[in-house]
Amino acid sequence: MVIRRSIPETGQTGDSTKKVGPAWSDKTGVRCTIGGMDSAPQSLERRPVYEQVADALREAILSGELPPGSALPPERELSERFGVGRTTVREALRALQTKGLAVAAGPTSPLRVVAPDALTTDPLRDTLVHLLRLGRVPLDDLIGLRIALEGSGAEHAAIRTPRPDLTAARDQIAFMRAAGTDLEAFEIADVRFHLEIVRASGNQALTIMMLAVRDTVSRTLLSHLQALTHPQPVIAQLIAEHEAILQAVIDGDGDAARRLSAEHLRGCEDLRNRYTE
Ligand SMILES: [Zn+2]
Repeated sequence: MVIRRSIPETGQTGDSTKKVGPAWSDKTGVRCTIGGMDSAPQSLERRPVYEQVADALREAILSGELPPGSALPPERELSERFGVGRTTVREALRALQTKGLAVAAGPTSPLRVVAPDALTTDPLRDTLVHLLRLGRVPLDDLIGLRIALEGSGAEHAAIRTPRPDLTAARDQIAFMRAAGTDLEAFEIADVRFHLEIVRASGNQALTIMMLAVRDTVSRTLLSHLQALTHPQPVIAQLIAEHEAILQAVIDGDGDAARRLSAEHLRGCEDLRNRYTE
């Protein structure tokens, strides 16, 4: 890996608007430019140096040069690589954390590149939850997104070869049965079931999107269940629907898996209307 020291340190703290050139190279040896700004006129570059360092690191992360879960190089090393002060590096690392690309396990732990499963605590998930609660994303749209994601996930899981391992999805149905009157336990197993079906599709992009939306989805389902006067018959019905989806996947029937997923999701949304009269 060839790292160019290409951020000249001309003015210590007064360097806030200088131009930062390519500073990170990928595995192929092709230097990454930073946000395409290399071709921009010098006078247009008014971004703080720390942002440019953060952008170079972001590119290294998104290109896979710094893979998910790997430790970021220490401050001292980054400071040398980019030719900037450690304060600037610290600001850049903070920016990466804010963007949800780097996380620390504890206050003194080294920063690591975020892994897809960390979306459980990621700003993207929070943003989706906040947008929904602010009413900016109509619930119908969210259901539509779930139907697109999960319908496709279930279909692909059904037709995938070699056959996917469906043990985790089956376990979640057992947890739903064991939950009894504990609606929160039921809902956790329900959401995990859908995640496991999408995971069984083998499509990592679908799985990451599912991880990002799942909490938004679970809050909605739980509030609907809690609004019911007699939730037990509804829960029995939902368990039967999950079993039917799983069976379609096991049978390799992609069309049925997609259709049953969509019907189930529309039905969940309509719970309140169906059972509260
Ligand atoms: Zn469900």
